[in-house]
Amino acid sequence: MWHRIECSFQPDIDAEPHRATDRLLLSRQGFLRAALAFAAAPLLKAIPACFATPVGASLAVDEIGPGVFVHQGRYEVQSPENRGDMANAGFIVGTDAVAVIDTLGSTQVGRDLRDAIRTVTSKPIRYVINTHMHPDHVFGNAAFKEDSPAFVANHKLARGLGSRAERYLAINKQMLGPEAFEGIEIVFPTVPVDGTLSLDLGGRTLLLETQRTAHTDNDLTVTDSATNTLFLGDLLFSVHVPTLDGSIKGWLALIDDLKQRKVARVVPGHGPRAMQLPGALEPEQRYLATIAADVRKLIKEGKTIEDAAKTAGFEERDAGKLFDQYHVRNVTAAFAELEWE
Ligand SMILES: [Zn+2]
Repeated sequence: MWHRIECSFQPDIDAEPHRATDRLLLSRQGFLRAALAFAAAPLLKAIPACFATPVGASLAVDEIGPGVFVHQGRYEVQSPENRGDMANAGFIVGTDAVAVIDTLGSTQVGRDLRDAIRTVTSKPIRYVINTHMHPDHVFGNAAFKEDSPAFVANHKLARGLGSRAERYLAINKQMLGPEAFEGIEIVFPTVPVDGTLSLDLGGRTLLLETQRTAHTDNDLTVTDSATNTLFLGDLLFSVHVPTLDGSIKGWLALIDDLKQRKVARVVPGHGPRAMQLPGALEPEQRYLATIAADVRKLIKEGKTIEDAAKTAGFEERDAGKLFDQYHVRNVTAAFAELEWE
């Protein structure tokens, strides 16, 4: 099945880093076809504005600001069909080097992401940044080993990922199936961050900041100086229901802080490619605050965690996709935290 897509193939984007590119749908095959089409262009007396690519073997990326590219993942749990493509990932191109922000949920989609980068730029991939430990953000890391980048993450990521590695691998092997699981390995950070770290890509710097325990205990945000774009990782869920694996109190407090940030745009870990503050954080804030209020009330009434799992926060049923998959887990995590207040 072949699809013509809306794009304009630019063989040398580096020459004009500030030129907005249209949507690119990329794959190994697509790249080869595009390269052949480009080589043949003089014969055809025209550079083709577009090339066809098979759906299912391609990874779409959009340039949301000059040199800032985002791939939007699906609102799904991992499956053989999506091969772990269910989170957002990005890359930022400087005059000297490229930084990748999250690598998706398998080595195979990680390779597709790498192919997408290579179609935009041939500059060295110097940094692979992980926003937190969850498999849908880090299981594509191995696809970048050939670039010998620095793998950069919150200093607490290694401990969290290390203690969960066996479980993460088992669950993903089962859910992805043997084909999509092929090649997945745990790649730990080589550059741990505690506090802040600046990375120079040439012509732009990235400010990395570790955050208090919120979505997890190892969240890290990235701000691009050139475009004032803030990558929030899973500190921001949109459309997809938030998932709690850290601290509901910490997350709500952090949301209050993050809403004050003056940035051009934010990139969620799950949701649209780019959003605006403070509105982007408000549905998530309401969802988490509702759970916290309901759970506190039930604890006060002497109710159990089982009672809470049946009732707390269900008025937020329309808060996002995958509510049935994650909501009860969020409530039990909140209960376990809040009963010790
Ligand atoms: Zn996550």
